Amino acid sequence: MKKTIANWGQYPCLEADELHFREEEEIAEIIGKSASLIARGRGRCYGDASLGETVVSTTRFNKFISFDRDRGILDCQAGVSLEEVLKLVVPAGWFLPVTPGTKFITVGGAVASDVHGKNHHKEGSFCKWVLDFSLMNSKGEQVLCSREHNAELFETSCGGMGLTGIITRVRFQLKAIETAYIKQTQLKAANLKEVFQLFEQYRDVTYTVAWIDCLQSGDSLGRSILMLGEHAQAEELPRKLQQAPLQLSDKLKLSVPFNFPSFTLNSYSIKAFNFAYYHKLRKQQQSSIASYDSFFYPLDFVHHWNRMYGPKGFVQYQFVLPLHNSYEGLTTILQRISKKGMGSFLAVLKLFGPQEQGLISFPMEGYTLALDFPVCDGLFPFLDELDELVHELGGRIYLSKDARMKSSMFFRGYPGAVDFIRSLESFDPDHKFVSLQRKRLAIPA
Ligand SMILES: Cc1cc2nc3c(=O)[nH]c(=O)nc-3n(C[C@H](O)[C@H](O)[C@H](O)COP(=O)(O)OP(=O)(O)OC[C@H]3O[C@@H](n4cnc5c(N)ncnc54)[C@H](O)[C@@H]3O)c2cc1C
Repeated sequence: MKKTIANWGQYPCLEADELHFREEEEIAEIIGKSASLIARGRGRCYGDASLGETVVSTTRFNKFISFDRDRGILDCQAGVSLEEVLKLVVPAGWFLPVTPGTKFITVGGAVASDVHGKNHHKEGSFCKWVLDFSLMNSKGEQVLCSREHNAELFETSCGGMGLTGIITRVRFQLKAIETAYIKQTQLKAANLKEVFQLFEQYRDVTYTVAWIDCLQSGDSLGRSILMLGEHAQAEELPRKLQQAPLQLSDKLKLSVPFNFPSFTLNSYSIKAFNFAYYHKLRKQQQSSIASYDSFFYPLDFVHHWNRMYGPKGFVQYQFVLPLHNSYEGLTTILQRISKKGMGSFLAVLKLFGPQEQGLISFPMEGYTLALDFPVCDGLFPFLDELDELVHELGGRIYLSKDARMKSSMFFRGYPGAVDFIRSLESFDPDHKFVSLQRKRLAIPA
């Protein structure tokens, strides 16, 4: 039976068959029977990457296979969520090697988007830590993929947006921690120049991310708060927490780092929120101990916050610019946004290190900015203009957030697209794995 589905941005929506499975044999059967299909995890990509006429949800295929507590190696089915991983591994002194800004995604989705976190400049993206995975191909065969076995399929599937098949299980390396807490420091930056200087100054810190007030202009253009974080050592915790350093205290667990505005989002309300958020930080620099939940997943505290954008939904516009063009490029783009008055409630800036794997994986060395815009008249032509700027500056758009870019923008931004298509043609010549995004981007062109 068809149902209406949409991903996190609530745009686009479509009527689709959503199929579930619990056993491996059922996936092979689904693949055999369907003319075309696409894997879907928790639908946390913003746009249409996991939408299609037939979507195969992995969420019921969610068992742990093994956990080596000594070496920190986890093997699990692809539908296990990062939240479930954390519940299992944190009390044993391990953490995710890389995590996006929400824990409500699946491990399969983390591989297919090759997700990045606040530590990309130091520790790369998720697939760097993947030891191997199994993938069900278009013939319904299970293929073991790693850097040694079926290396081309491994490479094409890391960040391959589900187009090579359905990842069924993933084995990956975790990161050792002493506590479930983060030593965090927040720093105020008066403008973009200052925040770039701070990113440079704190380049050796493991986690860095800045929130930008994108409605500022003139000398305050790019006014930001930079957040730094390191996993806290046991002796750095307040005495009370030292008794059970790998357990989150209920008090800290529930501390919401900021309140969402309950009013309608428009440039006035966003300006008011940004003002309050920036000035809430009274000192120029402030340090504290935070739970991993509030440091990594502040947005997860508010379930369904995506609905505040109204029934038309929103798009997240995330681009990356090469390092040498990042400062000038971001200045120009922020000026355009500020002039247009299309403020984004959330505007997040991160520093990337080089791309290390995947043919169409998003990261490249430079700065990435993510902005949320409610869908409204004039938005898409405006984003097309920004696309042109991003292209001229040598950057690209993140496929996992995208719902609207043109095919030409994809091909211009991803030089690996040609090899990606060549591989797809050999692994899936009948084009079994098709998403709305794949159709929109005309892959293969
Ligand atoms: C609040 C929020 C914050 C976020 N922050 C970040 C961030 O900091 N960094 C970042 O990189 N991303 C971020 N994201 C995006 C999110 O991490 C990715 O889109 C992730 O891929 C979503 O995983 P999912 O399980 O929900 O998969 P879906 O959204 O359902 O699918 C995403 C893609 O993965 C494919 N896929 C899913 N499962 C499989 C499988 N088993 N086999 C093959 N292909 C599969 C789908 O076909 C699709 O192409 C954020 C999203 C939200 C909502």
